[in-house]
Amino acid sequence: MELYVVGCHGGETPKHRASSFLLDGTLAIDAGAVTRGLDIEAQGKLEACLVSHAHLDHVRDLATLADNRCQLGSPPLVVAGTRPTLEALRRHFFNGVLWPDFTRIPSGGGNTIEFVELELEKPTLIAGRSVLAVPVSHTIDCAGFVIEKDGAAIAYSGDTGPTDRLWEVLAATPSLKAMLVEVSFPDRHAALATVSGHYTPATLAADLKKLPNVESIPTLLYHIKPIFQREVEIELAKLTGVSVDVPKLEDLFSF
Ligand SMILES: [Zn+2]
Ligand SMILES: [Zn+2]
Repeated sequence: MELYVVGCHGGETPKHRASSFLLDGTLAIDAGAVTRGLDIEAQGKLEACLVSHAHLDHVRDLATLADNRCQLGSPPLVVAGTRPTLEALRRHFFNGVLWPDFTRIPSGGGNTIEFVELELEKPTLIAGRSVLAVPVSHTIDCAGFVIEKDGAAIAYSGDTGPTDRLWEVLAATPSLKAMLVEVSFPDRHAALATVSGHYTPATLAADLKKLPNVESIPTLLYHIKPIFQREVEIELAKLTGVSVDVPKLEDLFSF
């Protein structure tokens, strides 16, 4: 699997982009920067976008993506998420007021967007991969994902603070090759991280140790708030017994 970093930050500046990753050119994971970071041709090649939760920094580029694909005449884009996430997108985003309802606007032989509901912990085939949604601990319903193809799996945490089920599921996933895990605030803002449902380096380190073989699994940390980028990176560099790295925009990884 080839993983391209479209956006990997918990905010936006000209040098930071909100969360969005691309697997093998066809499956996007969250849409925080999917039009800002991909050219028109790459946008047209997408088959599906997984959405972890409804917060704007993870869904907002679905608006411009749908618009572009509709004009391209692209095949329907599968937008997959759990029921509460899709309900929020229907009600508050593609509602005909904030943005047109692209689930009813034709493109490429169907409609521009096709919502596919992911039932928690039930593998679902999306864009040729098995996708397992696992509940995590954020301020609204949020799911992490385990995405598997040809015996290799990668995990995506979504936005979360300390949580249990995701780590239990990952401990029982022998095909796990890499993890994308959020961390947002430095340790001195632990209270803010708790109230907003995010990790700090200390709370992340404690949770990573729930995974017995964590040292052997490459762990890419994303969603750092731009204001705290340097401070969080310094704290992460002090962690031991883990294999963590902070990706940069447009990095490409093969697993
Ligand atoms: Zn969030
Ligand atoms: Zn977020």
